[in-house]
Amino acid sequence: MATYTPMIQQYLKIKAEYQDAFLFFRLGDFYEMFFEDAVQASQVLEITLTSREGGVEERIPMCGVPHHAAPNYIEQLVSKGYKVAVCEQVEDPRQAKGVVKREVVQLITPGTVMEGKSLEDKQNNYIASITEFDHGSSYGFCYNDLSTGELQVTLLSDWNEVLSELLSTGAREAVVSSSLSEQKCKQLQDRCFVTVSIEDILIEFEEVIPHLQKLNGEKQKHAVSRLLHYLIRTQKRKLDHIQSAVFYNTQQFMKIDMYSKRNLELIETIRSKGKKGSLLWLLDETMTAMGGRLLKAWIDRPLIDTEKIKARHDMVGVLLSQFFQRSDLREKLKEVYDIERLAGRVAFGNVNARDLVQLRRSLQQVPAIRSTVAELELPYANSLASNMDGCEELLDLLEQALKDHPPLSVKEGDMIRDGYHEQLDLYRNASRNGKTWIAELEQKERELTGIKSLKIGYNRVFGYYIEVTKSNISSLKEGRYERKQTLANAERYITPELKEKEALILEAEEKIVGLEYDLFLLLREQVKEYIPRLQQLAKMISEVDVLQSFAVVSEERHFVKPVLSPEHQLRVLNGRHPVVEKMMDSQEYVANDCIMNDERQVLLITGPNMSGKSTYMRQIALTSIMAQIGCFVSAEEATLPVFDQVFTRIGAADDLISGQSTFMVEMLEAKNAIAHATQHSLILFDEIGRGTSTYDGMALAQAIIEYIHEHIQAKTLFSTHYHELTALEGELHHLQNVHVKAIEQNGRVVFLHKVQEGAADKSYGIHVAELAELPQKLISRARQLLATFEGEKVTSTTTKKEITEETQLSFFAEQATTVKESNLSDKEREILKQIKSIPIMELTPMDAMNKLYEIQKKLKG
Ligand code: ADP
Repeated sequence: MATYTPMIQQYLKIKAEYQDAFLFFRLGDFYEMFFEDAVQASQVLEITLTSREGGVEERIPMCGVPHHAAPNYIEQLVSKGYKVAVCEQVEDPRQAKGVVKREVVQLITPGTVMEGKSLEDKQNNYIASITEFDHGSSYGFCYNDLSTGELQVTLLSDWNEVLSELLSTGAREAVVSSSLSEQKCKQLQDRCFVTVSIEDILIEFEEVIPHLQKLNGEKQKHAVSRLLHYLIRTQKRKLDHIQSAVFYNTQQFMKIDMYSKRNLELIETIRSKGKKGSLLWLLDETMTAMGGRLLKAWIDRPLIDTEKIKARHDMVGVLLSQFFQRSDLREKLKEVYDIERLAGRVAFGNVNARDLVQLRRSLQQVPAIRSTVAELELPYANSLASNMDGCEELLDLLEQALKDHPPLSVKEGDMIRDGYHEQLDLYRNASRNGKTWIAELEQKERELTGIKSLKIGYNRVFGYYIEVTKSNISSLKEGRYERKQTLANAERYITPELKEKEALILEAEEKIVGLEYDLFLLLREQVKEYIPRLQQLAKMISEVDVLQSFAVVSEERHFVKPVLSPEHQLRVLNGRHPVVEKMMDSQEYVANDCIMNDERQVLLITGPNMSGKSTYMRQIALTSIMAQIGCFVSAEEATLPVFDQVFTRIGAADDLISGQSTFMVEMLEAKNAIAHATQHSLILFDEIGRGTSTYDGMALAQAIIEYIHEHIQAKTLFSTHYHELTALEGELHHLQNVHVKAIEQNGRVVFLHKVQEGAADKSYGIHVAELAELPQKLISRARQLLATFEGEKVTSTTTKKEITEETQLSFFAEQATTVKESNLSDKEREILKQIKSIPIMELTPMDAMNKLYEIQKKLKG
């Protein structure tokens, strides 16, 4: 190290502390990166890699970005999961003895981004911490959104739950102890796509951040403490906006595991990973960014407390019926800025006057919002209204202090209103008077010289000047004017008195800008005092926003208020899958009933592919989730139980990343449901068992149904294309067959999407293949094969009754054909073969008559 130049030595020393980050090393107007950082950054950011002398023989790789463009580059790196340590010059280079002092002032990581494009308005940006206790017997899980200050903590009992919680928060970074196993860290990276950061120091956070309330329980404290220390260490500033940790218990909410959330497309669709087409997209009519974020949080955690759910339903009901109040509310909410994030930026010290003007605008809306909410006359509404603190003193202050249209920069003045600060007013008067004086001087000079076109102007280089066109120069009095600048057809002059006034004006202006900046900082400090109150206000407003959003969507999409059934009955009449319905023309959507109760605990759904089985199942899950987040539901009438958990196994969402086979994922999901479901859960199994051979799959499917039916008694929707399973209805008393109706017209399948009682009569796979336009030759061959298979069918998984019947039937049938076939002529054998291959179900009665006529004719010769 000794041979490097002092600056490179300084670089290496700092870099050693930030091994896992790109070090943006400030050098004058640039941030430079060196060595391996430079090589990698030049590739990721597509910037030129150069090199410089560093005191040793070999040149040092280097690349850099201009300081004003840095935020953009930092954002690119962070959005790719990297961290950036910003290292600034912390002393004036002119006063430095030797190398300028430099320090890292902030470590920006994926989970701690405070601004920029990667921070979406309606999305939280969470950072989580995971603390393992007693070799994995439990875990402390804590997460925070640095931009809003929200902090939540819980205890989880197994690792899969940790992964599930982490995925559902959508955290981008997880802070763990260095003792967490490599395998677990890898799972965090590969399955939850988070940047993993290490933090081993735990702090007494109540001492370091005194406004935080104490937490009960050592484990929770550990988890929070790890996260907070990481934040303090990386952000290197006061975290005045961090809110006291809220303990939540996952048992207090409807549990939906990570697979199911994905399968049901609650937050994003499986295919595009986008919001459009998800439940969140359907329900989002929120007017504020805060409301948008809360809606997502509510969808992530539906309630199980009947009273709380009902309170939300009642609010939605009232808002829905009061059109004008609701419109008013929406108008006002539209003017409300992201107070929650603003509070965070106030604490971080990066708000400008425009932000505070927007805060003022938001606070001005509060009284009207509050009184509209209070007028709804519901206990829930009253509690929201009475907790809606309008921070009137702050509003007053902002009204007095800030101009209406301040500039973006806080260093240009023009932010503070006249009358707010005496000294500022004095400076402003001086400047204004000076300007009036100059206007008067212009007039006076014109009269004195008789030059009408004489004017006084200002530029940054020469200050104020008197400008006279060349043709008029002779009219100037000798000795009074000093020439300063020559233009093509004019000359510019100054006079001693002009310069004297100029000094006064410029001094006043400089003082104004300086004083305004100081006053602004003071104002910002005053706003800081209100952070907890603003955060509380933000919470109330976001709740109102989500509830009005439910009302708007419920009205638009004709949703109804669900009735919650203490007897755990489910009765949905003319229900619709709300998202599918919205995506297609509502006219075409076929509504369906679903009735489940003690006699109908398991519904076995049959019907051809594409008939609408999985849509029907998803519809029931979405209806329940919508009801339990407090929204109305897409049906004509709905009575619903409060489900404690929802489990799904619905195709498509295969976990390719974890390297599991489709069938393995299917079995894992089935296991998850079977292990955790209770009588009060909802299970959706779509075509379980299709990932393996027929008998194998059918046997598993049947065993799973039997197990759920006997041991779990959860409400279960089970779709299958194994027709044989429909016979279970005779054996299992709480199981009921339903089917999705399809009919045949002219040899083609027409899906009616109508769910009816009883089992479907046959599988239509080949027809669907035909619809998909597989080659006609292939289709005919499939028909032929099907006919053969159906002739051969004896199953090992059918029920006893069915086996005996079928075996007997086929036994007689086989005997009959063998006896006869031996005596047949070639012609007859040919005809018999023809009869066997007739696709009876595809024929119209007329076709059948024609076929029969043809056969008879052949036999008769
Ligand atoms: P399956 O699970 O039986 O293969 P899906 O549920 O995937 O069938 O439905 C196939 C398609 O049929 C869906 O993409 C949807 O467009 C349409 N569909 C399903 N249910 C309905 C319905 N009730 N009304 C109208 N169209 C429907």
